[in-house]
Amino acid sequence: MAAIYEGVLAVWPVSTAGEPLGPPRRITTESAHAPSWAGDSRHILYQSIDKLRIIDVETGEVRMAPLDLKYTPAIPKGRIIVHAGKLVDMKSPTVRSNVDIVIEGNRITSVVPHAAGNHAGQVVDASSLTVMPGLVEFHSHLQKDFGEAAGRAWLAFGITTIRSPGNTPYEAVEDREANEAGVRPGPRVYGTGYLMEWQRVYYKMGIAISSVAQFEMELQRAKVLQHDLIKSYVRLPDLQQKRMVEFAHSIGVPVATHEIYPAAFVGVDNTEHTGATSRRGYSPKIATLQRSYEHVVQLFGRSGRIFCPMISPAGTRRLLDLDPDLANDPRFKLYPLWIQEQLVSRQMNAFAAPVDPAAGSGKMVMDIMRAGGLVVAGTDTPNAINLHGEIAAYTLAGMTNYEALKAATVNPARALALDAGTIEAGK
Ligand SMILES: [Zn+2]
Ligand SMILES: [Zn+2]
Repeated sequence: MAAIYEGVLAVWPVSTAGEPLGPPRRITTESAHAPSWAGDSRHILYQSIDKLRIIDVETGEVRMAPLDLKYTPAIPKGRIIVHAGKLVDMKSPTVRSNVDIVIEGNRITSVVPHAAGNHAGQVVDASSLTVMPGLVEFHSHLQKDFGEAAGRAWLAFGITTIRSPGNTPYEAVEDREANEAGVRPGPRVYGTGYLMEWQRVYYKMGIAISSVAQFEMELQRAKVLQHDLIKSYVRLPDLQQKRMVEFAHSIGVPVATHEIYPAAFVGVDNTEHTGATSRRGYSPKIATLQRSYEHVVQLFGRSGRIFCPMISPAGTRRLLDLDPDLANDPRFKLYPLWIQEQLVSRQMNAFAAPVDPAAGSGKMVMDIMRAGGLVVAGTDTPNAINLHGEIAAYTLAGMTNYEALKAATVNPARALALDAGTIEAGK
């Protein structure tokens, strides 16, 4: 029998009933993944980070299996004019009217008052519509089971960037590269591989790391696969989290976690969720009675940390209350039936905690924003309408419309070092 054991390939003898007849024998010293026996029961094909190898189990001899995977980013060419009836450029709360946005290749070259003479090349007539920057969903785990339609659904709801903070590593890379290459229509993806866990996992996209040596192999995999961030999950000890930050920052990527302290102290960049699971067995951010205290607010504020609250249910409910017909929006047909049914039956937010500017998560979000934390909108859901719900929830908490929209445009662009988030020349 063969399996990946503490990150490396191991084999052991078994009886015809599958009972082990001896201890596992490690046959690689390097990271291994997805083993597959050859028909001769002697060779195993396996993946080692970004290579395919074949090992002879009896002699230990390893050879490479040829693999040539390349892709070319699909960068738009030519000139496009977007004629905007109204423009929310997110540089200021002021709405502009009747402008032409001139785009050459993949850059905006100018934003000018509309004139018929500007209309050379391809023209997008949005003269009866409002144009604004593409929205960023800062926390949604991309899942293959939604099929390629999921990418089109994000775009149809105006979401042009997704940060996927935990996935199986090779699917994460495939999602990013396929969208970048234009093979599948979808948003740009900032992703990572496994949620890094210790000994046990919470979710299918977690990995149970059981030794310091395996941890180092996982960090190397994150580097070689060029993940955009690394996620320190609930059971990773504080000491390993500190090492993760040193490693991630040495390769120029951020670390995200649910934790606030000592995460802020050792330089973890992002803190996800108002509450959620914690390695301490209780939430160090928000108390059981849904109150977040000043020391937590100041840790966010003074470290200027990136805070993704994820309080969308009350906001999505608000959108459905304002427009009951929204549940029948044809864009939801891009989703599996269970999501469509959730929307119509309103199950998805039946238990939504109300968002209150004076208490609970609503007050926590406002206090952190005022203290200097950078609020970025995310939902931890696969359904694009919830990002609109998250933005609505911020207005219920007391943000102005402009502040709430910044949390899904300007702020995440800054957090991702993405040259976007506003509509102006050079973006
Ligand atoms: Zn989470
Ligand atoms: Zn999550």
